[in-house]
Amino acid sequence: EPYTPAPARYAGMTYRRSGRSGLHLPAISLGLWHNFAAQEFGGRDSLENARAMLRRAFDLGVTHFDLANNYGPPPGSAERTFGRVIQQDLRPYRDELIVSSKAGYDMWDGPYGSWGSRKSLIASLDQSLARMGLEYVDIFYHHRPDPQTPLEETMTALDHIVRSGRALYVGLSNYSPEATRHAAALLRELGTPALIHQPSYSMLNRHVEAGLLAALRDTGMGSIVFSPLQQGLLTDRYLDGGIPEGSRASTGRFLRPEHVTDAVLARTRALNALALERGQTLAQMALAWVLRWPEVTSALIGASRPAQIDDAVGALARLEFGAAELARIEEILAG
Ligand code: NDP
Repeated sequence: EPYTPAPARYAGMTYRRSGRSGLHLPAISLGLWHNFAAQEFGGRDSLENARAMLRRAFDLGVTHFDLANNYGPPPGSAERTFGRVIQQDLRPYRDELIVSSKAGYDMWDGPYGSWGSRKSLIASLDQSLARMGLEYVDIFYHHRPDPQTPLEETMTALDHIVRSGRALYVGLSNYSPEATRHAAALLRELGTPALIHQPSYSMLNRHVEAGLLAALRDTGMGSIVFSPLQQGLLTDRYLDGGIPEGSRASTGRFLRPEHVTDAVLARTRALNALALERGQTLAQMALAWVLRWPEVTSALIGASRPAQIDDAVGALARLEFGAAELARIEEILAG
């Protein structure tokens, strides 16, 4: 049936400014890396589930959806599925949405389907726009640094992408602190300042604390942190020690059963106890914890069903941490 968004959808969400830009992002954003695969590759991940998740997210004030050329499987299918839902349900609300895509990982055969040349970035974004049926994306990212291509070429391509109307803003993903500073300087000089960085960050993966957050602060870039739930480890999904059927770990592609170790479970069970004391789920506490930095604009979750999006947005009811709680978290993480 036709979709009518919840009238109160903006009331329960918090929006945070991305660095020193004019753009606000929802504190919780939804990424479509997994769970938007073509049905023949994912079984339960049907168009109907994708549609239900996107509707639920938008009803909760989640205005930002994150994609990339290669999300699927097969590569491209997440953008295609997202495009179908956009055309069916969200087209009238395009101006209320922030849609991102990326290029830089392997997408098509031959020398132009990957990395960071001007050729591959522009061709890839044109393919993404065609798959989604959009005239432009709001944010276009270089997905990973390319050690072979001069940074000047990649940044000039991003600047051109904005000037040609294909994207409104540009971002960097998986760049080191040093490369981030260099790229930020180049983009600023070109007149297309970098809006945002997309690094991984969670209680179990804290590399950004060693230099990247400082680079963001200095350059005025915001950030959107991916896998803040460590692909599900920082939720109640694996706490009882089993691998639930259909879970990310059961598919074994990026999160594998052998990642659910006794050492991880000892930590996540202790964290879960603390979360319950705070009146939150473990997922909610994990999201509040990454959002404690002003440099972190948004937490970028994935979901396999609408209820997980509700759970994530529920984190906003309790974002603050006392000093004793933070110290206890450090103790738990130190094992
Ligand atoms: P998360 O750490 O949020 O993991 C998502 C998974 O956790 C879900 O698929 C689900 O697993 C489980 N989960 C989520 N919420 C709950 C809940 N409330 N209760 C129980 N389980 C829950 O993030 P992702 O790893 O999915 O990454 C998020 C996004 O980040 C991607 O979609 C993508 O847009 C981006 N990304 C970017 C990368 C980059 O290089 N720039 C790399 C990786 C991701 P299950 O499926 O088992 O239900």
